[in-house]
Amino acid sequence: MAMTSAANPPLGLLAELTHRCPLRCPYCSNPTELEQAAQELSTAEWGRVFREAAALGVLQLHVSGGEPAARRDLEAIIAHASEAGLYTNLITSGVSLDARRLAALAEAGLDHVQLSIQAADAATGDRIGGMPGGHNRKLAFAQLVREAGLPLTVNAVLHRQNLDALPEMIELALALGAGRLELAHVQYHGWAYRNRAALLPSRAQLDAATTTIAAARPALRGRLVIDDVAPDYHAQRPKACMGGWGSSILVVTPSGKVLPCHAAAGLPGFDFPDVRTTSLREIWQHSDAFNRFRGTSWMPEPCRGCERREKDWGGCRCQAFALTGDAAATDPACALSPHHALLQSALEEAAASDGAFQYREMRRQPAAAG
Ligand code: SF4
Ligand code: SF4
Repeated sequence: MAMTSAANPPLGLLAELTHRCPLRCPYCSNPTELEQAAQELSTAEWGRVFREAAALGVLQLHVSGGEPAARRDLEAIIAHASEAGLYTNLITSGVSLDARRLAALAEAGLDHVQLSIQAADAATGDRIGGMPGGHNRKLAFAQLVREAGLPLTVNAVLHRQNLDALPEMIELALALGAGRLELAHVQYHGWAYRNRAALLPSRAQLDAATTTIAAARPALRGRLVIDDVAPDYHAQRPKACMGGWGSSILVVTPSGKVLPCHAAAGLPGFDFPDVRTTSLREIWQHSDAFNRFRGTSWMPEPCRGCERREKDWGGCRCQAFALTGDAAATDPACALSPHHALLQSALEEAAASDGAFQYREMRRQPAAAG
């Protein structure tokens, strides 16, 4: 019988307020079919979602997108979250918030800011983000965050085209006044899967990055905390994706669909529940979407009989689907998977790639309500 964690409350809620974003990162974690602005939840609907989340036991709210500042009612949304008693973390590209809006967000109860950077220098950052001038706007925004007295985390998504500048990115995070640096390797689904050949790093790059991080952590103790998530394509065993399906986090998309992970929207055969019609509690505890891959009873061999099955929960369902076409397969990042050789082929393809990107593009949309 499945060991589900439905009885445990979720720790976090990721609220994707909008898929609109001025940047065009080729590894964007939004789905390739972006949701339209006219479909977005209203301010009041987000307020209800936050109250339901708090009642369910959620402590931390990550407000994300797209670029959440594209919502003109972001300040009101943060106020709702704060009134619900949630710790609020704003995940932003930092290119469109000015001092006035940041002050209003702090006044509304914002607790923390997480700023993404694409690279250590402006030319590379602007090229990867697909927005001229974007990098320098980020630097100016970090200064505003410091002046507003809000704690700052810098987040960098790592890949072949910025990994060699990791020492400079660590220096930049320090210079920007961040207390924490999150280093996350690209997850290869959606837009990133389309750009995989241009983004996959080499083994030598990863080894150098590991050495850099190992040296930086003790050297920067007390000044900068460095979190890093190991990449999959050079691994022998997968990570426990999202700590296990439906175990710790809910993701609400701009239109109110509720997902166990931000990439799950691309999985076929799911009818993801909607906050407009179903309560978060019902969704978390009883929906097929959250129970399908919860626990261990869904597992095929070799996971079913493996001693690590309650450590890594069979890896990432979205990666399994992207690589094998079967979301219920063992994650090919595991060397025990019959599909593990697919990763080697992808690395060979990447080594021969010219590195050109297919940027994230958004179809023209009707004007937003928010
Ligand atoms: S990854 Fe880039 S394009 Fe995607 S939402 Fe974030 S900043 Fe925007
Ligand atoms: S066989 Fe399954 S449970 Fe075992 S290590 Fe591989 S992915 Fe994890």
